[in-house]
Amino acid sequence: MFETLDYAPDMLPADRPRYLMGVGKPDDIVGAVRRGIDMMDCVLPSRSGRTGQAFTRRGVVNIKNARHQDDPRPLDEACTCPACRNYSRAYLHHVFKAREIIQSMLLTWHNLQYYQDLMAEMRAAIAAGAFDAFEARFHAMRAQGDIEPV
Ligand SMILES: [Zn+2]
Repeated sequence: MFETLDYAPDMLPADRPRYLMGVGKPDDIVGAVRRGIDMMDCVLPSRSGRTGQAFTRRGVVNIKNARHQDDPRPLDEACTCPACRNYSRAYLHHVFKAREIIQSMLLTWHNLQYYQDLMAEMRAAIAAGAFDAFEARFHAMRAQGDIEPV
């Protein structure tokens, strides 16, 4: 995909938005924006949320893993979504194990907030002429991996 995006956006009119269908994972989105894509769509925030996967600044978290069962901390301490502000990792783990329908709602809520924040951060970085610094921070945070278990 990136090989194509290295040249294809330059073939499109510069004064029109550039849309990439069905992308994607956070790394793919940042790489696509780096190559000139303006907008995209993707089912991953909700699909992943329904299966227990959460996107965070430090990478993907599988809330079904046993390491979260007694963790009182939020999924992502920097996130402003209601799932992170009101519920612990332990609670989110429990509702997945209990197959409560709120499981998919809470993680979808979080994932949508993560994607909204990611796009807002990229827009601000582009407007400030600081996309390189944003991209370096994005990859450095993800390289850290999830927080240490309690
Ligand atoms: Zn959140």
